[in-house]
Amino acid sequence: MARERGLTVDVEGFNRLMEEQKSRARAAQKKSVIELSQIETSVPTVFVGYDKFETPAKVIEVVRVKDRTAVILDTSACYAEMGGQVGDTGNLSTAPACGGSPIRRSPVTRGCICWKAEARKSKSEVRRVGARRGSAEVDVPEPGAEVVLRVDAARRQAIQRHHTVTHLLHWALHEVVSRDASQKGSYVGPEKLTFDFNHAPLTPSQLADVERLVNERILENAGVSWTEVKYSHVRDRKDIMQFFGDKYGEWVRVVQVGGRPTGLDGYSMELCGGTHARATGEIGLFRIVSETAIASGVRRIEAIAGLEAWRRAGRNWRC
Ligand SMILES: [Zn+2]
Repeated sequence: MARERGLTVDVEGFNRLMEEQKSRARAAQKKSVIELSQIETSVPTVFVGYDKFETPAKVIEVVRVKDRTAVILDTSACYAEMGGQVGDTGNLSTAPACGGSPIRRSPVTRGCICWKAEARKSKSEVRRVGARRGSAEVDVPEPGAEVVLRVDAARRQAIQRHHTVTHLLHWALHEVVSRDASQKGSYVGPEKLTFDFNHAPLTPSQLADVERLVNERILENAGVSWTEVKYSHVRDRKDIMQFFGDKYGEWVRVVQVGGRPTGLDGYSMELCGGTHARATGEIGLFRIVSETAIASGVRRIEAIAGLEAWRRAGRNWRC
């Protein structure tokens, strides 16, 4: 095409920049992961974080790898990174041996990380909390210790706002653009969301309509509810968003917005394992930041909600 138009292509420059981009991508992916084989525990950790930001827990196992320590608990309120939603951070404190007295104030770990790994053979699931710091002040609990795990609630709430509004955005895209605009992936973090879908570029008026529709639904303050149902009951429901072709277990979780709580009659319903706001009003202001191409035929919407949207809106408006 360039030749037709009398242009030359800097192939060498392109290749150099492509290599640079590849090494950037590789560096970004470098994570220190604790192999599941290093963990003996096969009992799955019970996740109570849909309803609670704090939970007592018992240390089942402690695994040290390089500069990290993974503390495996029997119960966790920290959401482990899954389905596009980032993992929670939180604090682990040792609890006194007998119940009733106050929790020791010194945090055992700061900036704990939670993540999940599937043990393919045993089909069990382990939720782990890793302490990032290896400094002397970090007092790692022993197996058998009673601890209290507290989720960083403000961060979690910011993540939840972005997750619930991702569902509203998905719904609004179907209303404004097309029901064929299917989700290709998403990222849900405390600072923003991204939503990938296959479609032609959206027009400015479509983007404006999507943004307005989502904000209208937020102000309506409809309830958000979730329920677990057998997958066979919802597999053929076209009104419940799901990734067709994805392997779901026997039980799935439906997150719905609007309708009777858990009545499977909301205007937005999706199979989703993530954590959510209780009502759309919690989301606050919603703004679309950009809509761009990320691959052939795949668009990405980047958007912000809640305090992030307020922060951005607040810039330079006072005269
Ligand atoms: Zn979701």
